[in-house]
Amino acid sequence: MPELPEVETTRRGLSPLLEGQTIERLEVRDGRLRWPVPEALPERLVGARIATLERRAKYLLLTTDRGGVLLHLGMSGSLRHCTATTPLRTHDHLILHLTNGSQVRFHDPRRFGCCLPLPETGAPHPLLAALGPEPLDTAFDGDYLFQRSRRRRGPVKTFIMDQDIVVGVGNIYATEALFLAGIRPGRAAGRVTRAEYERLAECVRTVLGAAIEQGGTTLRDFLREDGTHGYFRQSLRVYGRAGEPCLQCATPLRNRRIGQRASAYCPTCQR
Ligand SMILES: [Zn+2]
Repeated sequence: MPELPEVETTRRGLSPLLEGQTIERLEVRDGRLRWPVPEALPERLVGARIATLERRAKYLLLTTDRGGVLLHLGMSGSLRHCTATTPLRTHDHLILHLTNGSQVRFHDPRRFGCCLPLPETGAPHPLLAALGPEPLDTAFDGDYLFQRSRRRRGPVKTFIMDQDIVVGVGNIYATEALFLAGIRPGRAAGRVTRAEYERLAECVRTVLGAAIEQGGTTLRDFLREDGTHGYFRQSLRVYGRAGEPCLQCATPLRNRRIGQRASAYCPTCQR
């Protein structure tokens, strides 16, 4: 599933190719996505000039002088920039034709993605309304996590994966950040200290930042791929390594299921 770093990598790859360009038309080959693509959307975008491609959580926001579009890659979606002569693939559901002859194709085998208009009033889209801060923004820090976690009995891992608390910290990144911060994933969120949350906030940023960096170096591959992103796996310290020795102390890593998700941790390095 595309996570925040993959979405940010997509944004960085596509924004210089899109910003300032004019939309010739949006071709809806199959609009049956998670929510149907509204019939009025293509007409609204004809001749629109693209201003920016931004990201909020795992949503991409395309803004134009004729209104904006909210995109989500869902479970298996990807966007790629190509020319009209590039052969179409099955599951290329949407094609954004630009007047310079290039295209962006939205490919999504499982159809959990979406493409919806942004409100014309300029108000935030309802899907974005309840989201917590961005993990790479200054509003996200140890003090914030400490305040929000008081009296919470649920596991700290579930807490930092909650989109209302902070966006974009998926299972892989939560598992890795908790290892780096030396905090066991199953500990009650309300029992983690302020100092530990300071470490954790920094580790979340480190892990996501490194993934975005690596995504940038394999950008060309990423844009060609159809939803399988292997590049970050090479540097995983604990995720998917239960039973194998800890890279710091050689103790066998353990696994615990938390909220239906695998959570590898080191019983020695994490407290
Ligand atoms: Zn260890």
